[in-house]
Amino acid sequence: MMAFSLELTEEQRDLRGWVHGFAADVVRPAAAEWDEREETPWPVIQEAAKIGLYGFESLADLFGDPSGLSLQIANEELFWGDAGIGMALFGTSLAVAGIFSAGTPDQLAEWVPQCFGDEEDPKVAAFCVSEPDAGSDVSAMRTRATYDEARDEWKLSGQKAWITNGGIANVHVVVASVDPALGSRGQAAFIVPPGTPGLEGAKKIKKLGLRASHTADVFLDDVRVPGHCLLGGKERLDARLARAREGGKAGSGGRGQAAMATFEVSRPTVGAQALGIARAAYEYALDYAGSREAFGRPIIENQSIAFALADLRTEIEAVRLLIWQASWMARNDKAFDAGQGSMSKLRAGELAVSATEKAVQVLGGAGYSREHPVERMYRDAKIYTIFEGTSEIQRLVIARAISGRQIR
Ligand SMILES: Cc1cc2nc3c(=O)[nH]c(=O)nc-3n(C[C@H](O)[C@H](O)[C@H](O)COP(=O)(O)OP(=O)(O)OC[C@H]3O[C@@H](n4cnc5c(N)ncnc54)[C@H](O)[C@@H]3O)c2cc1C
Repeated sequence: MMAFSLELTEEQRDLRGWVHGFAADVVRPAAAEWDEREETPWPVIQEAAKIGLYGFESLADLFGDPSGLSLQIANEELFWGDAGIGMALFGTSLAVAGIFSAGTPDQLAEWVPQCFGDEEDPKVAAFCVSEPDAGSDVSAMRTRATYDEARDEWKLSGQKAWITNGGIANVHVVVASVDPALGSRGQAAFIVPPGTPGLEGAKKIKKLGLRASHTADVFLDDVRVPGHCLLGGKERLDARLARAREGGKAGSGGRGQAAMATFEVSRPTVGAQALGIARAAYEYALDYAGSREAFGRPIIENQSIAFALADLRTEIEAVRLLIWQASWMARNDKAFDAGQGSMSKLRAGELAVSATEKAVQVLGGAGYSREHPVERMYRDAKIYTIFEGTSEIQRLVIARAISGRQIR
């Protein structure tokens, strides 16, 4: 077990400087353009692949840090640069996290490199869980996976909704129901390899924010994948289903389920992204408040402005500690006994929204215009109270963990 220290190691400090440099020099200058174009910023992804920031080796290094902090440090800095481009770069890692949490070492070795491609021809990956009628309630999933024993093939049929990189991904990781009677305990995750017939992405959805990141529905029409595309393998799935059947009625939530296991791991990371947006907005507002004058003095000399910035900085420091705590716990196999992963995502998401709103207010009319980045940050931030579990769902997870009751 790695002892917790708030003094970053030399590697962690170097990592922070490296990602910050990329965020400041490459991501920020490109942010407004890709937000307006509403297209996947392939040149930026390629640039990140070239310096080794986008790719399975760098992600393995981030995951490998025994303190759990490196992944969060990198996410905070990248999303400080821009959240839309950040998500275009990090959307792939959600699919990779899905493979990590459910796959065998052989499956990791086969599929993770294909999620990223290489620097000449970078690729992206998608993690497909949500459906038109199953968002917060993952147990209502209708996409079915049926096994064709004679051919050792799985057949996937259904529709996925709101999928980051849906349809443009090289590798789609699809969560489907094998035994609907078991609710979310009857679900499993499958790899859909590149070019598999029957999988089709719909048109990119036009969104409030994160506009550089591709979001689309995905249709699965009799998609057939080889037996080895079931993450974790059939033996493990059969044993898990047998245990669930013995355990009785269908439930939702809990460990060992394809989608939930991934979300538990990824929540502090999503929190770190939200923190990056909050910090960017705070820094911009602090700077502006020091130079903008009204009534003959810099506006920061008014307590109402200075105190708001003081509160924001306090929240930023507190939220970072929550994220680092949850991340350290997850990396060191400490159970989230009070929903600490959800706590970190909840507070960070809410902070991103309040900090960007406050930054727009501090800038006044300038904050409302596209001449300044806080307008974009304000639009981008809102997704952090919605995806990866809404704020209400995070409260549900925390409330259930602390009470031991089935709060609804
Ligand atoms: C930009 C974007 C990217 C996304 N990327 C992905 C992706 O890559 N993969 C993927 O699988 N999904 C993705 N999603 C989907 C996202 O995870 C869902 O939108 C989210 O889980 C909420 O589901 P929903 O939209 O169906 O809302 P609903 O579940 O319909 O919820 C609507 C409202 O009801 C509230 N609510 C629901 N149940 C309860 C309850 N029990 N108690 C209190 N309040 C409740 C919710 O909090 C919310 O406010 C993405 C979404 C967006 C917008």
